[in-house]
Amino acid sequence: MCDYRTKTVPGEGALDPPILFVGEGPGADEDASGRPFVGRAGQLLDKMVAAIRFRRDEVFIANIIKCRPPANRTPEPDEVRACSSFLLRQIELLRPQLICTLGLPATRAFLPETGSISAVRGRERSWRGIPLVPTFHPAYLLRSPEAKHDAWADLKLIARRVGRPVDGV
Ligand code: URA
Repeated sequence: MCDYRTKTVPGEGALDPPILFVGEGPGADEDASGRPFVGRAGQLLDKMVAAIRFRRDEVFIANIIKCRPPANRTPEPDEVRACSSFLLRQIELLRPQLICTLGLPATRAFLPETGSISAVRGRERSWRGIPLVPTFHPAYLLRSPEAKHDAWADLKLIARRVGRPVDGV
């Protein structure tokens, strides 16, 4: 579980966030700093947040697991389970208006039946009464820039849903 971490990465951001972004788990940069999404994927997430005209400190950014798995592998189900009470408590305390899951592992932590990220992204779902919009993980977008067009559509949906539409509609 936490045997391989340098620092725990609980998450950071506003305490009454309109949007809670949930990623997979800390990478090397996050493990070293104790902060979520500070590496290359984090820089792209910052741009995504800025594109819908939020500052990073106006939203909350967390992960399904709070410690870096060895060799950056996808978290195992028992690791997700071990950290889930932390994430649940964060959601209870933060009461976000909307949850945006980044990538398949984060989406499955909320909607276990999810088959593929392409099949669920861009549509609003509901998790315990909170609107939830899955989108691509920024690390995937770095590898597959052609998916950025869809991610932008997802971000516009999110902005609209929290009452701050970027295109005025
Ligand atoms: N990828 C994630 O899913 N989370 C981070 O914090 C950094 C990279």
